[in-house]
Amino acid sequence: MNFDTKAVHNNQDYKGQKHSISTPIYPTTAYSFDNVEHASNLYGLVEEGDIYTRISNPTTNILEKTIAELEGGVGALAVSSGQAAISLAVLNIVKAGDEIVATKTLYGGTYNLFAVTLPKYGIKTNFVTPMDFEELENAINEKTKCVYVETIGNPGLNMVDIEKYAQIAHKNKLPLIIDNTVATPYLCRPIEFGADIVVHSTTKYLGGHGSVVGGVIVDSGNFDWKNAGKFDELTTPDKSYQGIIYTEKFGKAAYIAKVRAQMLRDFGPCQSPFNSFLTLQGIQTLHLRMQRHSQNAMKVAKFLENHPLINWVTYPGLESYENYELVKKYLPNGQSSLVSFGVKGEIKNGIKFIESCKLLVHTANLGDVRSIITYPAATTHKQLSEADLIKAGITKDFMRLSVGIEDVNDIIEDIDKALKESQKL
Ligand SMILES: *Cc1c(COP(=O)(O)O)cnc(C)c1O
Repeated sequence: MNFDTKAVHNNQDYKGQKHSISTPIYPTTAYSFDNVEHASNLYGLVEEGDIYTRISNPTTNILEKTIAELEGGVGALAVSSGQAAISLAVLNIVKAGDEIVATKTLYGGTYNLFAVTLPKYGIKTNFVTPMDFEELENAINEKTKCVYVETIGNPGLNMVDIEKYAQIAHKNKLPLIIDNTVATPYLCRPIEFGADIVVHSTTKYLGGHGSVVGGVIVDSGNFDWKNAGKFDELTTPDKSYQGIIYTEKFGKAAYIAKVRAQMLRDFGPCQSPFNSFLTLQGIQTLHLRMQRHSQNAMKVAKFLENHPLINWVTYPGLESYENYELVKKYLPNGQSSLVSFGVKGEIKNGIKFIESCKLLVHTANLGDVRSIITYPAATTHKQLSEADLIKAGITKDFMRLSVGIEDVNDIIEDIDKALKESQKL
């Protein structure tokens, strides 16, 4: 089946769900055992089945299967947020004394995790400039356990050459982990370009309606953990799980089996079945929304490009985009909803602009059906000096817009009016 069909049908088994056409929600903490043997088989991973909702849940299982298919992976694990997905994805293969190599343009939450929090647990990250492959090769050493990038960086909107990153990671026997939140599997499937693990904040486009927080980890099944020779936790007995060896027991699905059996079991950020249901409902229209987000964003970006009250505009769909050849290769069918631009004048003009927007919602989300505007220099990054702002890839005029799926003429009119207001001080 093709992508749109898979998205709409959500991997449902109508007969197995009492012919309900909508995904059933199973609000249960635990599952009854038929007898002692059944229980013992479930605990021993001899038989497949649910034991306790922290580990798995039938509604969440459907979400996991659906996203794994859309990304082209062998399995997935849904968790309670994008940050939980990123944390578990990394901690599954990185421990104290190990290192990560990541691009320095990451989403703020991930940057903090890697730069500030993980070092407290003995895990160091070497940050590299996105397209500097020499720097990348030099940053990798014998302690490195993974390379971590984003398909489209948030908020800088920078892209990386995924195939090149995968080649360099694989040459060093390392897996490439990629955050595909902003592209979504509709616009780009990084596994097809060599990525090994894909993570998402499903809070954004997959849920799509600003109603639910969630995250997911997808395993391509392609990385050879055994051959790499440096992932003992996957290739030697797990003392905490009856001595099983993940690569032997689960083959291609070793990584995703371990992240559930060990990481989710012990750290516990499981997804609620209600949230899984809402995310599945979002996915049913993902293809349509991503088309409209991309079309609207392109029109808004072109409008802004010619606007006299704008200093600059960045959108991967514009030919002026710095790595347009990467766009042609990785995002040929649309470039998602994020557009950034600079409003003429000082911070006070920026504040006047954002406060004059009537349709655009001033909030911290993205990938919602509604158009959303944020002004980092006056809000999330307010404490930073001008020099530190520039280091973070943000300038004092920087606006981040997530273009929604409303009528694009209304979005453009709102921006135009607010821009005119921004200069009346
Ligand atoms: C929002 C976001 C996250 C974090 O996800 P949450 O669901 O908010 O925890 C991670 N990566 C990217 C690119 C994001 O946009």
